Amino acid sequence: MAYDFDLYVIGAGSGGVRAARFAAGFGAKVAVAESRYLGGTCVNVGCVPKKLLVYGAHFAEDFEQASGFGWSLDEAQFDWPTLIANKDREINRLNGIYRNLLVNSGVTLHEGHAKIVDPHQVEINGERFTAKNILIATGGWPQIPEIPGHEHAISSNQAFFLKALPKRVLVVGGGYIAVEFAGIFHGLGAQTTLLYRGELFLRGFDGSVRKHLQEELTKRGMDLQFNADIERIDKQVDGSLKVTLKDGRQLEADCVFYATGRRPMLDNLGLENTGVKLDRKGFVEVDEQYQTAEPSILALGDVIGRVQLTPVALAEGMAVARRLFKPEQYRPVDYKMIPTAVFSLPNIGTVGLTEEEAREAGHDVEVFESRFRPMKLTLTECQERTLMKLVVDASTDKVLGCHMVGPDAGEIVQGLAIALKAGATKRHFDETIGVHPTAAEEFVTMRTPLAG
Ligand code: FAD
Ligand code: NDP
Repeated sequence: MAYDFDLYVIGAGSGGVRAARFAAGFGAKVAVAESRYLGGTCVNVGCVPKKLLVYGAHFAEDFEQASGFGWSLDEAQFDWPTLIANKDREINRLNGIYRNLLVNSGVTLHEGHAKIVDPHQVEINGERFTAKNILIATGGWPQIPEIPGHEHAISSNQAFFLKALPKRVLVVGGGYIAVEFAGIFHGLGAQTTLLYRGELFLRGFDGSVRKHLQEELTKRGMDLQFNADIERIDKQVDGSLKVTLKDGRQLEADCVFYATGRRPMLDNLGLENTGVKLDRKGFVEVDEQYQTAEPSILALGDVIGRVQLTPVALAEGMAVARRLFKPEQYRPVDYKMIPTAVFSLPNIGTVGLTEEEAREAGHDVEVFESRFRPMKLTLTECQERTLMKLVVDASTDKVLGCHMVGPDAGEIVQGLAIALKAGATKRHFDETIGVHPTAAEEFVTMRTPLAG
């Protein structure tokens, strides 16, 4: 049977655009449907605008520290609407770039909500198109628990478009988004409380990293409340929010921001018209080659709930395009040693195993740690300390994990990830000459392991 398209991609986000562009480049006839915004979450309400706001928040400490270097500034003023308007302009520019990327690579763009009507057919804006393969790349959506008053809370989707910077913000959650946005609000001058239901935030990160970030945020005056969970939110007559915790305490805020994870975006997608199966957590189930239980339908990115990061969605998009249209170049995505950063202030950068994971996996673990006050701060009052940590297998000398909390940790860990991917040993680190004077050189000068 002749199909309208070889591949119909639903979702023009990180993974969908990558798969569509490369598939078209390999000679396939490709369409992509997008209902909301070109570039998806990352470009519009994720990585990019988030990083711009983090840069904005970082200026607060730059201004503070500048006086130690002889600069005097009149009292610095911050204007939220200016930051948001400039951010919006940049995102608009990126939307245009994504449109050109797609069109110039020969992909047909359909703007509207796509629904799968059968395993080879999609309906969009009242029209139906057939395709040999359909790729679900619809991403995720913030998930807010349905407690009484949850309608008064916002998620990251709204945070990027607030008209004014709230005076008092309560951030709920202990993952990437909670920690990053708490840093943004705090840095920009809002009185910020982070509420997390467990003992210590950032579950899954290395224990030293979690503890160190807790200490640094507390030093900066952020109110961290662990073992705390919200029971209800009530709007008061003056518009402020009264928040009642499960332990009976009450807090007041002008904005309650939930960052409690993301669900797969499957709304009105028509999966009931297919044999696609979902996993235990409701994400689309796929095999190693991103094929769903319905042979003509594939899925990738946040909607499959493996690793919810843009570079992972990109790698999966490339793998799908190759698998379908350039099988001789197909290489499976390697999910080991994925570096990642949390753009908190200060940043976390991490790659490889945490100390806890390494011990659990049965490695004979040696730990190297360095904690220091960065040189840049020696002329300032700032008492922030940086943490660097190496987790090493004592019997093979292999470096299993690198972890950092400190300025530019995300930048530094990218290079370390290449070393770990190449199988670097501690000896390789020791024999590498440092770049002086940098903070990063500490990673090659740690000589004595911590006592077991
Ligand atoms: P998405 O980028 O979400 O794209 C899915 C697209 O599908 C969307 O544009 C959506 O509108 C469209 N769509 C959905 N349903 C339909 C339909 N039925 N019809 C047509 N179109 C549809 N990752 C990082 O690596 N680094 C970061 O710093 C980072 N920061 C983040 C900050 C925040 C606040 C958030 C929320 C996420 C962040 N992420 C970050 C994660 C990253 O954004 C995602 O992992 C990535 O965008 C996933 O790509 P995707 O292609 O799977 O989905
Ligand atoms: P995460 O899964 O990272 O964190 C969710 C947090 O919310 C956890 O601390 C979790 O607690 C808590 N939580 C979950 N359910 C509830 C509930 N019902 N009540 C109270 N707390 C709850 O999700 P995020 O929303 O922060 O981010 C989604 C994903 O997006 C991230 O996992 C990451 O992959 C990606 N991302 C990446 C970024 C980056 O690369 N810098 C930045 C932002 C997002 P517990 O630990 O106890 O389960």
